[in-house]
Amino acid sequence: MKMVTTAAELRSVLAGLAKGSTIGFVPTMGALHEGHLALVRQSLQQCDTTVVSIFVNPTQFGPNEDFDRYPRVLEADLALLKTEKVDVVFTPSVASLYPKGIANATRIEVPKLSKKLCGKTRKHFFRGVAMVVMRLLSIVRPTQLFLGEKDFQQCRVLQTLVNDLFLPVSVEIVPIVREQDGLAMSSRNRYLSQVERETAAQIYATLVWMAQEVLSGNLAAGPITTAGKMRLSSAGVVVDYLAIVSDKTLNPCAHPTAESRIVFAGYVGKTRLIDNLKVAHVSR
Ligand code: AMP
Repeated sequence: MKMVTTAAELRSVLAGLAKGSTIGFVPTMGALHEGHLALVRQSLQQCDTTVVSIFVNPTQFGPNEDFDRYPRVLEADLALLKTEKVDVVFTPSVASLYPKGIANATRIEVPKLSKKLCGKTRKHFFRGVAMVVMRLLSIVRPTQLFLGEKDFQQCRVLQTLVNDLFLPVSVEIVPIVREQDGLAMSSRNRYLSQVERETAAQIYATLVWMAQEVLSGNLAAGPITTAGKMRLSSAGVVVDYLAIVSDKTLNPCAHPTAESRIVFAGYVGKTRLIDNLKVAHVSR
């Protein structure tokens, strides 16, 4: 496994690859778990070379968010990636990706999609994601980009970025990896106390219940969502949003179908968690 920290080093490692070979790219912020590893394994399976980046991107955190305390466990991450037999790990510095400083860095904005759902409370978030992923794609130049369905809005924003800018990369979306009780794996789960961890399991249980309501013929999003919110708040989850939306546009659907997606963001204690479930996937 090669470890590189600069764009120039990465380009020189990748320049040695056979012409026409495929490069899979898995961008992460580290604190790796089985969810990340599912992306890595899919890339290893599909591509000749797999590049994983570990970079806690400051431009996607707001001033009162957890950038400083975001878990950074590089040694453990590298050990996991080595076991998986990843080819290249890229760990750039903030200064190397944003050499003119963050305020003066060139920005990319995906309008509309970036303003919905998570974008309402985290106004900076998708601009930061687009800024860093565009830079990483320009450096790595992968044939395939692997993203997790867990961050569903992020997938839609980045698919739009790739399409709108005619980027020559195919976007592969990998299903959510969950804990035994259904909680979506997340680097932020390690912030949760044991009691909070139990509360957090109610998130997936509620999404499943809502999806089952839709599949059993209750086709009014309003009452299902209201009941879902009540269920979550009585379990101790503070809901930022809970909605049934179109899988493509993320616009709310008044009359959901199996193709709709239920999306959630909220807080358990001080920890912000997100999750989503396509209605048709409930029996998976
Ligand atoms: P992060 O390190 O949180 O930026 O995540 C890096 C990538 O891993 C993103 O594409 C995430 O969507 C994906 N990911 C994180 N958690 C999961 C999970 N539980 N299942 C599938 N993919 C995940």
